[in-house]
Formats: sequence, structure tokens, C-alpha cells
Amino acid sequence: MKQYKNFIDGKSIDSSSGRTFENRNPADWDEVVGVFPKSNIDDLNKAIDAAKKAYPKWRSVPWPKRSEIMRRAAEIMIERKEEAARLMTREMGKVIKETRGDYQEGIDTALYAGAEGRKYYGYTLPSELPNKTCQTRRDPLGVWGLITPWNFPVAIPTWKIFPCLTSGNTAIIKPATDTPASVGELAIVLQEAGLPNGVLNVVYGGGSEIGEGLLNSPDIVGVSFTGSSDIGKRIGEVCGKTLKRCSLELGGKNGQVVLRDADLELALEGAIWGAFGTTGQRCTATSRLIIEAPVYDKFIEMLKARVEKLKLGNGLNEDADVGPLVNEAQRESIHSYVEIGLKQGARLLTGGAIYDEGECKKGWFYKPTVFADVTPDMRIAQEEIFGPVLSVIKAKDFDDALRILNGTVYGLSSSIYTNDLNKAHKAIEMTETGIVYINAPTIGAECHLPFGGMKETGNGHREGGWTAYEIFTEIKTIYIDYSGALQKAQIDTWNQ
Ligand code: NAD
Ligand code: MN
Repeated sequence: MKQYKNFIDGKSIDSSSGRTFENRNPADWDEVVGVFPKSNIDDLNKAIDAAKKAYPKWRSVPWPKRSEIMRRAAEIMIERKEEAARLMTREMGKVIKETRGDYQEGIDTALYAGAEGRKYYGYTLPSELPNKTCQTRRDPLGVWGLITPWNFPVAIPTWKIFPCLTSGNTAIIKPATDTPASVGELAIVLQEAGLPNGVLNVVYGGGSEIGEGLLNSPDIVGVSFTGSSDIGKRIGEVCGKTLKRCSLELGGKNGQVVLRDADLELALEGAIWGAFGTTGQRCTATSRLIIEAPVYDKFIEMLKARVEKLKLGNGLNEDADVGPLVNEAQRESIHSYVEIGLKQGARLLTGGAIYDEGECKKGWFYKPTVFADVTPDMRIAQEEIFGPVLSVIKAKDFDDALRILNGTVYGLSSSIYTNDLNKAHKAIEMTETGIVYINAPTIGAECHLPFGGMKETGNGHREGGWTAYEIFTEIKTIYIDYSGALQKAQIDTWNQ
């Protein structure tokens, strides 16, 4: 068991609060993965001061040189991948092949950052006036607050840290209290890669103290947040008051549509991976399965048989398909949704109960659960459950399927299984989500493409790829007049 300290100005520093919290293994609640400081505003202010002090020098380091540090970080991460994946499985429970994937996403994001510094271009445009040229460039903003959830302990922090720092900003990250260790280790990687002191600082603690502290600090120029829509609205509200930039990646209620002509075996494997990967605790998890009437009965029979074959277990066992939920409160919340589903008249096909057999007796395991005959207005069809619960809805036809698919307040990811080219293209056009998959599940984002959602899933920003760099930079428009005379836009004309 490791004792962690805050990471401020390149040093491990005790919290002045004297308080700590434990990070436990959800597959074995007797195991304490680490003990972390429960920080206070004093600690946060030290981190903000360090980040402010580091900013002028860091922003003047050329883009390609900042980028090189990110590439070196990727090289160290490649060497630490297995060790980091095992730590991640112990701290949040998801199975080892998925934590390897989570860390790989971090490596890929670091490699992308390692190249981005050499190609970060603006535009050059003509002027309305002679002997004049126009350009744009992007500059950093200052000190950022990065607030992350527990379900992707490395991938999501890297989506923020790498573009934020490569762009020349400095930052304080507050990781989720369920998964603080993975971020702590990542900060060490960046330091070893040559990141100057104070450019990235880690402050552990609760959302109401450290999270709110970041939102309310006048020294923080922007907040990048991934988490629930409820907290996201709160963050948008506070940032709105002082016009802080804020990017919000929030909840989802993602649907997979299976049309009558789909390859049903393929659609089945997609639904299993989409709904029960990460024990359903993904923002992009398949939470609704919308099946066209002619194949409905056949498909739910196939689904039940396949779900019952999933093996629950400690994620460190290579043969486990599904790990535990992250903590007790999540398991209680999942079970209460099962009760709501039953009360509202959905038909429980399989699961619906805690699982505590064999090696699972000391973990927060829950049986993969499927409800059939769900109607679009039921709460289990509308609210984000964030666990291994799939709601199956029957659609009359293609148009009905699209209506159901779009009929939630969220808009992150959707998936359409069909071999009908026309319907596939129509669905791409009509889907109200930021991400659409054709003949693939609702999960599977790649780091070089924009990632984010519509409606209550976000506020219009996109992480991933070049768009993440748009979040963390400010556009500057430049006019260069080499005529040697006063030229007046909109007033002078070219033939005068
Ligand atoms: P959460 O909203 O409870 O917490 C997220 C982070 O916010 C944590 O670090 C938490 O400590 C902090 N926080 C809590 N209250 C705060 C406050 N008042 N001010 C500032 N910070 C505060 O979310 P969670 O349970 O950690 O994660 C699950 C949620 O995240 C789900 O809704 C899921 O859909 C969403 N999520 C979205 C994406 C996406 O990219 N769209 C990705 C992953 C997870
Ligand atoms: Mn934990």
C-alpha cells in the first residue's frame, strides 16, 4: 500500500489538512490500493501559485519542444503499460484487457501530442485591401483546472493533460477519488519526460472542495470537465458567471439499432461489448437496444443466451469478461434501477441481482442484466444507469427506430446495424449524437478523432484529435499592413 501526496511544483507535498482517504479495490474490498490526502483550499492555492509561476516560461517554449516532452512521455508509458494497467484494474475494477486499452489510449494521445507541436498551423488569408495580409494563430490561455471521472482513469486525464500542456498552458488536475493513483503515476511519467516543475500539478480531494475551488478561483482561466450531466450543469453555471472557458463531456443514454436486414450475429457481439464492457460504466455504453419488430423475438433469445455466458470475476484474471462496479454506492444505484424497471413493467430477461459467488464474494459485482419489452418512456429507457443493465425496446420500423434512438435528453453515441446502404446514410444524417457507428458498437473511440456529444451530453466542444487543441487555445487574428498608408476596411475601395 502506497501513501500518496499531492504533486505540486514538481514535488510530493503533504496536505495541510492532515486528512486522508483510502482508495480500495472494488473486486476485493479488503485491499487498500493507496492512501491519499484529502486536500483543502490551502493546498489548492499552492498548486495554483505553482502553475501561475510556471506559465510565462512554459508558454514561451516553442511548440515543437513542448511536443518532444509529450513524445518522451509516450515512450515511458509504453514501458510502464503492463504495470499501469494492473494498478488501474486494482483501483477501479475493469478487466485487464480493458485497462491495457485505457492506457494504450493514453499512449496514443501522447504520441499524437508528440507530433502536433510541429504542425500546429493557423490560416493565412487575403485582405480586402492591397498590400495587406491576414493571419490567425493560436495561443495558450493560462492556468487550467482539469476535473476527471473514475471510469477511464488514464485515457480521460490524458485527453485533457496532453493537449492542454502541449498548447502552452499549465494546469491543476483533480482526479476522481475512486481512481487517484493512475493520475498520480502519470504525473511522475511527465516529470521524468522532462516537464518543468509547476506545469502540471495534482491535487487530490473531493469535488465539493477541490473541484469547487478550481471553478471559483479567479486565477483559473478554464475548466475542462468530464463527468455527470448534473455536475456539468453546475460547472457551466459557475464558469458562466465569470466567463471562464469550460468544456463539458457529460452523460449518455446510447442506443444501438438493429434493423431487420442486419447481420444478427455481428449485432449481437456489438451489443454485448457495448453494453457490458467496463461493466457498463462507459459514457458511451450501449444502454438501449432498439430492435426492428421482425427480428425482435429471435434477437432477444440470442441475447439472453449470450449474456448468460459472460464470466464475472476479478479483472486481473485474464479470463474474466466483466469486473465489479466501482463502489458500493454505484451497485446500490444499479440495483435501484432494476427495481424501477420491474415496477414500471419491463420484463427481466436475465440478471437483476448482486453476484457474490466464489472469488466475487468480496467485491461490488452485479449480474449482467437485460430488460426486454421496455417502452421509450420508462425511466430505464431515459436515465443514465451507468452499469451492466441493457434495456431492449421494440421498434415498428426504421423511422420508429430513429425516433426512439433520438428520444432522450442525451446525445453522445449511437450505433446502427444494417446492410441497407440507404438506411445507413439516412441514419447518419438524422442521428442526434456527436458520434455515430455503422455496424460497430457504441464504444470504440480513437484518439485522433473528435469526441463529444450533443444535447445534455456537452456544450459543443470536442475532445480528441485536433479539436481538443481548439479547447485549450485562443484564436488571435492578425492584420499586417505593408502599404505604408492608412487603409480603411469597408471604406476604401480597390480602384480608388
Ligand atoms: P461525477 O460528475 O460524479 O464526478 C466527476 C468529477 O467531478 C469527479 O472528479 C468529482 O470529484 C468532481 N466533482 C463532483 N462535484 C463537483 C463540483 N461541485 N465541482 C467540481 N467538481 C466536482 O461523475 P463520475 O461518477 O465520476 O463519472 C461518471 C459520469 O461521467 C457519467 O455520467 C458518465 O457518463 C460521465 N462520463 C462522460 C464522458 C464523456 O466524455 N462524455 C466520459 C466518461 C464519463
Ligand atoms: Mn478505487
